Amino acid sequence: MNDIDILVSEVGPRDGLQSIASVLPTATKIAWIEAQAAAGCREIEVGSFVPPKLLPQMADTAKVVEAALKTPDLTVAVLVPNLRGAEDAIAAGAHKISIPFSVSETHSLKNVRKSHDEMFTEIAKIAERVAGIEAGKRPHFEAGLSTAFGCTLEGPVSEELVVRSAERLMDAGVAEVGLSDTTGYANPEQVKRLVRKVQAAVGKEHITGVHLHNTRGLGLANALAAIGEGITTVDSSLGGIGGCPFAPGASGNIVTEDLVFMLEAMGLRTGIDIDRLLDVRTIVSDALPDEPLYGFVPDAGVPKGFEHAA
Ligand code: ZN
Repeated sequence: MNDIDILVSEVGPRDGLQSIASVLPTATKIAWIEAQAAAGCREIEVGSFVPPKLLPQMADTAKVVEAALKTPDLTVAVLVPNLRGAEDAIAAGAHKISIPFSVSETHSLKNVRKSHDEMFTEIAKIAERVAGIEAGKRPHFEAGLSTAFGCTLEGPVSEELVVRSAERLMDAGVAEVGLSDTTGYANPEQVKRLVRKVQAAVGKEHITGVHLHNTRGLGLANALAAIGEGITTVDSSLGGIGGCPFAPGASGNIVTEDLVFMLEAMGLRTGIDIDRLLDVRTIVSDALPDEPLYGFVPDAGVPKGFEHAA
């Protein structure tokens, strides 16, 4: 990361596409990933290894990973819900494997039908499997603390429980934890506070990323709050694709185009060329004409005389 300040991790092909009913053809997914990598994006979460019966949109993840691995200078990330998914991710050769851990146990039981204890056991098994892979080929294995800022089922989530969960995940053998605002409940003060608490518990080097949603319009403010506390990886999705089922008109994840614009305008290098990034939208909008794409910068355009951070 010597030549960039913030790693913008694109999650649209996973978080965005799994939230919509339409299935994007494999070739289009690959064209999107290649174009966005060519625009300078260094990391893309290209899919998830979940049963195709549950998420037909992700059924081609192995093929997408295979193609993405041929893209130069790209970290290929995938999401897995369990050991079975992790085995598929390892077989496919993904560079980075993330597993969501719902701090709200109600959410965990409903989403993956596992209690916290069962999740810690599952995650420890994956960590052991990953540790057995030879060093040069070993994927980076991290756990995302989802519903860390609040849960649609439980409401407020205890910050002490977030911190304790982060510690237990590190004990289970993950390389890193991340904070996820799955529900779009977070506010900037809460982000600052929770990032600091988790950093104090597990060490700054073991929490470098946040996954934020823009459900209530605070996505960019929350990203900035996190960056102010030393976070260096921010997830976002092209065109905020996927939207939010609970908030019509709201994007799902933070919009990549707006995030990159904000960071570059502030002098923080992302490595991404904003004009080339805006062109990538066409690939997605042509293939999914009925899905709304969000973003202010795409609508308003890049300001006259705009210069990337140097
Ligand atoms: Zn998400």
